Amino acid sequence: MSYIEEIIARTEEKNPAQPEFIQAVEEVLHSLEPTVEKHPEFVAAAIYDRLVEPDRQIIFRVPWVDDAGQVRVNRGFRVQFNNAIGPYKGGLRFHPSVNLGIIKFLGFEQIFKNSLTTLPMGGGKGGSDFDPKGKSNDEVMRFCQSFTRELFRHIGPDTDVPAGDIGVGGREIGYIYGYYKRIRNEHTGVLTGKGLEYGGSLIRPEATGYGAVYFAAEMLATNDDTFENKVVAISGAGNVAQYAAEKAMELGGKVISFCDSSGTIIDLEGIDRKKLEYVMDLKNNRRGRIGEYVEQYPMAEYYEGKNVWDVIGEESIRIDIAIPSATENEIDQKQAEALVKNGMICISEGANMPSAPKAVDVFLDHKIMFGPGKAANAGGVSVSGLEMTQNSMKLLWEKDEVDNRLRIIMKNIHESCRDAADAYGFERCNYICGANIAGFLKVAKAMLAYGVI
Ligand code: NDP
Repeated sequence: MSYIEEIIARTEEKNPAQPEFIQAVEEVLHSLEPTVEKHPEFVAAAIYDRLVEPDRQIIFRVPWVDDAGQVRVNRGFRVQFNNAIGPYKGGLRFHPSVNLGIIKFLGFEQIFKNSLTTLPMGGGKGGSDFDPKGKSNDEVMRFCQSFTRELFRHIGPDTDVPAGDIGVGGREIGYIYGYYKRIRNEHTGVLTGKGLEYGGSLIRPEATGYGAVYFAAEMLATNDDTFENKVVAISGAGNVAQYAAEKAMELGGKVISFCDSSGTIIDLEGIDRKKLEYVMDLKNNRRGRIGEYVEQYPMAEYYEGKNVWDVIGEESIRIDIAIPSATENEIDQKQAEALVKNGMICISEGANMPSAPKAVDVFLDHKIMFGPGKAANAGGVSVSGLEMTQNSMKLLWEKDEVDNRLRIIMKNIHESCRDAADAYGFERCNYICGANIAGFLKVAKAMLAYGVI
């Protein structure tokens, strides 16, 4: 058993029933194998062992009162994983599937993602098993206030700076920030994804989706290719999916799909600006289901209970580029094989870990350009970092300035993944290993500098 395998086995033993966390640890640590030989100092200082153990894991009760006057209780989490290179930074997820293992997987991934951005941010993640779907605004507000009543003592602009994720958008950030401000009596950059009126950054809502498309464009450029006339399949219909669609369209791609947890719509004519505006209103204002799209645009098809990748396989729909932007493990091996069979040349992960390990193997075996989430979706946290900078400087940059910075960061992330893969002997353009190694080295060196703490 190799040194890395021993660490994985120990982590598995210590963290039973946390399959997503173990999956993320295995994926990262396996690609770090070559660093073990090159950096005996990391082994001597047990850097790898320390890396898989969060600095701190906070679990708390979140009681709140629903509209019928009934007291409900949810569970809140904040995992502060690693602050070697900056304050803990990572989103909050509100979804019934949330548990400690999922938050740990997301927090662990965030360490490397944040390191790749080149900005000074550590890794953390949080959330709750609360489901905002079907709740009134008042219920969501009461929940967010109760959640913040405990969270506030663990966060701060130089300590831990949460943001949004699944189920946490502008509305939830507003309620959380408003309550924090009230009980702390301070107006600071303690959260990102804030509204423009109270400290937010231009381009933050767009950043993850735009960034995933910029990363795909960088991968395509290595083959002298572009988005022009490419058929693009996108899953999800939330924040990341909407802005990935907007940018893919802007670069000349033809976007054909969205999904939510009820089903998938496929519009082979292409989703244009007007149709996207309809989706944004449906999802962000009316909080409706994606199936309603076909009432407005009857030429499109709705597939109840299926995700985008099922439908592409079953209906043999030809695509060039995939941008999975819904959730973890949404693409399995069979679906990955179907995507490759249907012509896909490039996949850029808008979501975190949307491809199951066997699906990733399929993509690598077929030499598909594969942008792993921690690199491809790092645009969101990058602009969050820029929001923190603007908050500390007490100014607001123009839209173009933020977008240009985002584009440059995504270009640099692409380059550092490629260079690290080359330097450590991985096949050119193995962006997974490149992303893990490049993200890891900076954190490991900082940890080493601190001694044993
Ligand atoms: P949203 O809540 O805005 O949207 C998520 C979308 O995915 C919703 O349409 C949701 O449908 C759909 N979805 C969730 N689970 C499933 C499922 N099992 N099957 C089909 N559809 C599903 O979240 P975001 O867009 O913010 O996040 C999407 C992904 O991107 C997540 O993996 C997140 O961690 C990642 N990410 C987000 C960042 C950000 O800045 N927001 C930054 C980096 C990564 P429904 O409403 O029915 O649940």
